This record gives sequence, structure tokens and C-alpha cells, in this order.
Amino acid sequence: AFSTLRSDFYGFEDLLPEHEKTALAGLRSYLEAEVKPVVNGAWEKAEFPREILPGLHRQPVFGMQWDETKTFENSAVYRGWVALELARVDASVATYVGVQNGLAMGAIGVAGSPEQRAEWLPKLASGELIGAFGLTEPLSGSDSAQGLRTVARRDGDDWILDGAKRWIGNATFSDVTVIWARKADDGQVTGFIVPNDTPGFTATKIENKQSLRIVQNADIVLEGVRVPERLRLQNANTFRDTAAVLRLTRAEVAWAAVGNSIGAYEAALKYATERQQFGKPIAAHQLVQDLLAKSIGNITASIAMVTRVSQMLDHGTQRDEHAALAKAYATARMRETVAWAREAMGGNGIVLDYDVARHFADAEALYSYEGTREMNTLIVGKAITGQSAFV
Ligand code: FAD
Repeated sequence: AFSTLRSDFYGFEDLLPEHEKTALAGLRSYLEAEVKPVVNGAWEKAEFPREILPGLHRQPVFGMQWDETKTFENSAVYRGWVALELARVDASVATYVGVQNGLAMGAIGVAGSPEQRAEWLPKLASGELIGAFGLTEPLSGSDSAQGLRTVARRDGDDWILDGAKRWIGNATFSDVTVIWARKADDGQVTGFIVPNDTPGFTATKIENKQSLRIVQNADIVLEGVRVPERLRLQNANTFRDTAAVLRLTRAEVAWAAVGNSIGAYEAALKYATERQQFGKPIAAHQLVQDLLAKSIGNITASIAMVTRVSQMLDHGTQRDEHAALAKAYATARMRETVAWAREAMGGNGIVLDYDVARHFADAEALYSYEGTREMNTLIVGKAITGQSAFV
């Protein structure tokens, strides 16, 4: 009853070709029917609903950016809409996809050799294998370019990895984790496809999260983990190659932030038309309309921005600062929008069953991961002033 078109106030989806619109319509129906019913229960238990994975992996979502795995020609704008539709239903499920498809497959797609791409991308796209992406460490988050401490030492045809990772999504149940490490000899960063059952590799779930509770984040310890050279990403030679992976995914987090905003807004709009106070629906009260109108303004401005930034990726003109601005802006607008949706629902706005509480809490992690708003702001600041505030 509440279509995306209604929240896509200016009809940006109409810019897509018919076959992409048809694919999105199918994805929307699937998410409403199969995913939406299970997410509040999973959020409450802080468990990932793995029963959805076979169905999710049959959707036109995974590997759509790689020749080895895409099922039809598609644009970065389409892939942005996919992130929006996923997060509109649940930001944790969007994050699962962001890690599997954007980060784990992205690392192999960007920095793997042709042989590595052919070996790993199809299995990860189909869901035969689950992947994770280990960059952040207990002692290095925003400064991972300089602060990364995990070390890789060459030993004949193998490498020995020692160190620790924190916050690694999907890693409690992944088959493989891409581990970024600094080479002992030249200090440069490279990446490894590490099977989780390798001796010395342990992943422990981070408990008691109050945002994205469905996402399983892990603390990883690496103690003398032996990995053959053939599992080192052959084109990962400096941190610039790691950054190239993040560049591809950052704008999709901005799209997911818009989706999370729409999920909250649509729940509040529906509630406001049904809930009566002072003899009429609360949607008929001016101040409630103000909350809803401000929300659709935020959503519309954000869709315009993310659409353009993804068009720039399609045209080969997107730079780091373009994606950084979209991520910083869309997540800041999201924080306002989910709070207005919460407010419009009164007491029921804090009860999980009404959906808005989940979107509200999940906004916090989207705001901080894949570059906090501050770090993305500094990327923009450096581009427009020519002055780096990082160091
Ligand atoms: P810090 O870097 O410690 O920052 C703390 C605060 O200081 C922030 O507000 C930050 O903006 C501010 N700050 C830091 N430096 C500066 C500066 N120079 N100027 C101004 N302000 C500054 N990582 C992975 O590798 N893989 C994953 O799958 C993954 N998934 C995640 C999932 C979730 C739910 C979360 C919460 C995180 C995930 N991360 C993952 C890690 C994420 O990318 C980091 O949390 C993020 O980069 C911020 O790092 P930090 O948490 O260490 O914060």
C-alpha cells in the first residue's frame, strides 16, 4: 500500500531503464514477503536470520558490478537503489549485503588477480561461501591507513599473520575473511583471503550492541595464521588499493541511509493516518504534518544527491570527496528523519513492533561505519580547501 514511489517524491526511480525498475519491483516484493516478517524477532535476539540467505542470494543483488557474476547490464544507480530497498526493510540486512557484496567481493573484484576473481566471486555471489572484510582493529579505526598494526611476515611460499581486528561484520559465520595487514619487510598494506578455519584464527561475537543488532560483528585474533601466497590479493600493494574498495562502497552506505530513513518515515506516515487523537487522525494535526513534510524533504534531497553521485560513478567522474559528501550528508539527514518518525509515533515509537525504534537505533551504526561523518567531512574539507586536517 505504501509504495517507494510515494516516498520517492520526485520520481527519481523513473530515471532507471525498465529492466532495472522491474528487477527492483521484484526485490521489493521479496523483501516485504520474506524478510520484513522476521527482522524484529531477529533484532530482539541479536541473531542473524540465516534462513533468509538462500532466497536473498537468488535476488538480483550480488555481484552485479562484476562481469564474472552479473546477471544483466546494470548501473551504479541501480545498485544504489538495491541498497536503499534493503535498508528500507532492514539496515542490518543491507549491511550483510554491503559486507558480502561490497566489501568482501569488492576486495577480490578490485584487488584480486583474474584467477582469484574467477575462483571466488561466483561462490560468494551465490552464497555458497560467506565472506567478511577485516580492516578495523581494536587500536585503529578512523586512522587505519596509518594505524594498522596487523603484520604479515613472509615465510617461503607462505605468509604468517599476527594481530587483531574489531567490528568485523559477518565474521562469526563467514567461511573466509579478507584480512588487511602490513608487510613486515616494506611496511606496505596488502590483503589476504583467509579461510576462517585456519589454525590461529578466532572470531568472537561482539555482544550487547544496541544498533544493527542483527549484524554479527566479531573481534578477531590472528596468532601465527599461515596463509599461502596464492591467497594474497595479487593487486593489493599499498593502502591505496584498500581505499579503492571503500570508495566503491561508501556511496552505497549513503543510499542505505536514505533507505533507513524511508523505512522509518513510511512507518510513521502509516501510523499517523491510523492513530486518532482529539477526534481526528494525528496526520491531520499541523505539527505532525510538519514532521512528515520535513522528513520527505530530507529524503528527497538525499535521493537527489545519491542519484547524482552514482551517475558520476557510472560516468567515471566520481572522486573520493563526492562519495564522502554523500555519505556524510545522507547519514546526518537520516539521523534527523528517524528522530522525527519516532517523535510522530509518541510512546509506540519506542516499541520494536512498530518498526521505527529499530530504524532509529540502527541509524547510529550507519552514521559511524565506513568512515564516520567527521572523517568524511575532512575528506571534503581537504578537497575544497587544499589543506589536509588529518595529520
Ligand atoms: P574512532 O576512529 O576511534 O573515532 C571516534 C570518534 O573520533 C569519531 O567521532 C571520529 O569521527 C572521531 N575522530 C577520529 N579521528 C578524528 C580526526 N582526525 N578529526 C576529527 N574527528 C576524529 N570495520 C571493518 O573493517 N569491517 C567491518 O565489517 C566493519 N563493520 C562495522 C559494523 C559496525 C556496526 C560498526 C559500528 C563498525 C564497523 N566497522 C567495520 C568499523 C568502522 O568502520 C569503524 O567503527 C569506523 O571506521 C570508526 O572507527 P572507530 O569506531 O575506531 O572510531
